[in-house]
Amino acid sequence: MTRTSMPAAPRLSPLPSRRDLLHAGLGALAFAAASPIASAVFAQNKAQQKKDAAGKAAAAGFIDAHSHIWTPDTAKYPLAKGFKKEDMKPASFTPEELMRHAKPEGVSRVVLIQMSFYGFDNSYMLGAIQAHPQAYVGVAVIDENDTPAEKMRELKKLGVRGFRIRPGERKADAWLAGDGMAAMWKRGAEENLAMCCLIDAKFLPSVDRMCQKHPETPLVIDHFARIGVDGEIRETDLANLCQLAQHKRTSVKISAYYALGKKKSPYKDLVPMIRRLLDAFGPERLMWASDCPFQVQEGHTYKESIDLIKNLDVPEGDRQWLLRKTAEKVFFG
Ligand SMILES: [Zn+2]
Repeated sequence: MTRTSMPAAPRLSPLPSRRDLLHAGLGALAFAAASPIASAVFAQNKAQQKKDAAGKAAAAGFIDAHSHIWTPDTAKYPLAKGFKKEDMKPASFTPEELMRHAKPEGVSRVVLIQMSFYGFDNSYMLGAIQAHPQAYVGVAVIDENDTPAEKMRELKKLGVRGFRIRPGERKADAWLAGDGMAAMWKRGAEENLAMCCLIDAKFLPSVDRMCQKHPETPLVIDHFARIGVDGEIRETDLANLCQLAQHKRTSVKISAYYALGKKKSPYKDLVPMIRRLLDAFGPERLMWASDCPFQVQEGHTYKESIDLIKNLDVPEGDRQWLLRKTAEKVFFG
């Protein structure tokens, strides 16, 4: 189109009309000053715009699928029985402290994982989600013997998308056998809430059997089922983890590099394990996570963790799944 074919620009009158003001965004202000209702609508629109913009910005970034937060304020958020302040290392790891590590690496959303110090009291995590619903969702811990299915539904309304389960002192053939676990897995399938297993590799066959009983329950395995935690990556453990790929709703967090294999940056010794999982699960069922604050202690850094995946020799589309889309699908959907 040539310049001469463009329609002439409308001439502005010397005194702006209300329409001009509206176009300039000033009319709303003038209008708002004149009417309390309009003022409220204007404020609401502004708030919505701000929320939309925040949502868009958050959606563009990467997702850290696993980090913990806590506060030194134990008067307001008391520790569960058996925990002391000295157990909190570092003493403080608030959402602000977490995002100071995450934001510079392009991470805009985090799946918060209820910290063991707080037992079944998820309130500190829920408060963070409530304050920043665009940035956080949660994985809660509940008592499987105290109306778990009802609690799951209530917590879902507060931004919880998964539930952390772990064997504790129980044996591999016993930890998933109770009525409470059955109720949780059933409700997980009904409400699209993930069972998030913090387990060692020896528990993988028990999880496999549970998946056969509950094929529709979303399942997330934390930290490669801790394969390599003793420094050795065993073929039998890897085979058992890959066996879970047959259950279509299962995904794995490829995370906690500071704790696995050689436990040394740049963590390249973990790449063959990641490749093995890529073959078994595909990038659409693997998600990167930091496991902060533990990833940022003793000389390890957040950047070193995410860089392993940023620099991994995979197609760019696969990387997007590992760093964002899988966690988005499982936890932010
Ligand atoms: Zn963790």
